[in-house]
Amino acid sequence: MKYSELKSRYGLFVLILLTVITQFNCTPQTPAEEGRQVLQQAALAMGGLEALGAIDNITRIGTRQISSFGHGRRTSEALYVQPARPYNHTVDFTVPRELVLSDTGAVAQMVDSVKGGYRNAGRGAFSPMEAARLERYRTEWEKDMAKFLVAALGEESSVEGVSDGVLEGQPHQVVSVGIGNVLYKVYVEDSGHLVSKLEFTEHHFRFGDLAKELIFSDYREVDGVKLPFSEERRQMGLTTQVLEWSEVTINNELQEDLFQIPEEIQERVSFLTQSDTMPVEPTELAEGVYFGEGKGMNTMWVDFEEFILVVEGPNDEVQSLETMRQIRETVGEKPIRYLVTTHHHEDHNGGIRTYAANGVTIITQAMNETWVWEMLNYPFTLQPDRLAQSGVEPKVELVEDRRTIKDGSRTVELLHVPSTHAESFLVIYLPRERLIFESDLFSILQGQTGPPRVGPDAKILYDVVTQEGWRVNQIVPGHGRLVGWDEFVTALNASKSQTE
Ligand SMILES: [Zn+2]
Repeated sequence: MKYSELKSRYGLFVLILLTVITQFNCTPQTPAEEGRQVLQQAALAMGGLEALGAIDNITRIGTRQISSFGHGRRTSEALYVQPARPYNHTVDFTVPRELVLSDTGAVAQMVDSVKGGYRNAGRGAFSPMEAARLERYRTEWEKDMAKFLVAALGEESSVEGVSDGVLEGQPHQVVSVGIGNVLYKVYVEDSGHLVSKLEFTEHHFRFGDLAKELIFSDYREVDGVKLPFSEERRQMGLTTQVLEWSEVTINNELQEDLFQIPEEIQERVSFLTQSDTMPVEPTELAEGVYFGEGKGMNTMWVDFEEFILVVEGPNDEVQSLETMRQIRETVGEKPIRYLVTTHHHEDHNGGIRTYAANGVTIITQAMNETWVWEMLNYPFTLQPDRLAQSGVEPKVELVEDRRTIKDGSRTVELLHVPSTHAESFLVIYLPRERLIFESDLFSILQGQTGPPRVGPDAKILYDVVTQEGWRVNQIVPGHGRLVGWDEFVTALNASKSQTE
């Protein structure tokens, strides 16, 4: 055999061998393996899974700009856009728990998944958190970008696959991964392998199946890991929060005293942490008229001859169910015919679906029509609520300027009062009982000390009552505690003399 022949035969052999090896190596990975590899690259780009796993706590200082969804001043606006404010936020993943400090260094919010939590609205007004709220915080902490990939690559997750995508003109690989009962799309940038976005739909206690996006950028080095210094949060395609950090630190020595629950609310906090219901405490204001004081949000119910009228369906289904239970305890089994909402803001309407499921007609000011129907029509497929389960067709009635609901025994007047807080307010007046129900025009929160806050809407309320010739002894509020009319007038006059 000539050398050249040998060479070519040998060459052919090598070629075949190489082809076999390459083909063997190129056995296509399963979509799950491919996705896992992309997530592993992303973890590596952030400093490695081990370094991320070793993050016990993280403190971020910067600004937070909130645009509250469903809190527009006008009903045509989906968002109430607020200015960026200083924000000092710590998450301790070991408990887990979190802490928000005000610019004076005081605790503005503390949430401990074991001990319970509270918000501090200032001037002694502490608002303890119920168990369902603690659970919502827990799901937030799980999405923290400092820890997300650890969970996504952990034993509890299931990586399903990967596809190509584009975000802001940049090519990305989009990994589908299920953690708990949420399916995430994780956008990993092709060049730097950093996570740009998490996209998912999860259950929301007021909006049902809620589409969310968390967008991360401006990754910087922090103690051996790379973390985003900018985060944007979207829901239903709208930007609801922008977080810009100037300082991010990890594994700090935490100040244990800041995580303590103030003594005066300890009992209430531990009760709420363990309770799966939302307490509503009834007070009889006049015969057949009850104030249902909830945790931060209230209701009133009025016993007519043949039916019951409820004012305000706030918060969520849990509060509505407890309110209905209290209605049965206090006035018996008459049908609830009407539920009057004071305005379109989502916190004041989170409970109306439960009433609609029971065949109750929702009464609202005409401008709120779209918002109220939206609340009633949100899809609740992930965790069907009573309305979703019932298949009941909701009923809504609109009030333009005013409406009187009366029978032989009772009169309730509804009046449209445009305010700066919402243009579509209804104020509810009971002439015989000499009381009004209003939300957000004037409130004194539970525990609050010092002179009450008096905004422009307090004056609007005062003027309406005067112009209508209403005789009012008591204000029944959507938030906070009962307020005597004299107390209200005193607060209004005190604030006037201050500004003059
Ligand atoms: Zn409001």
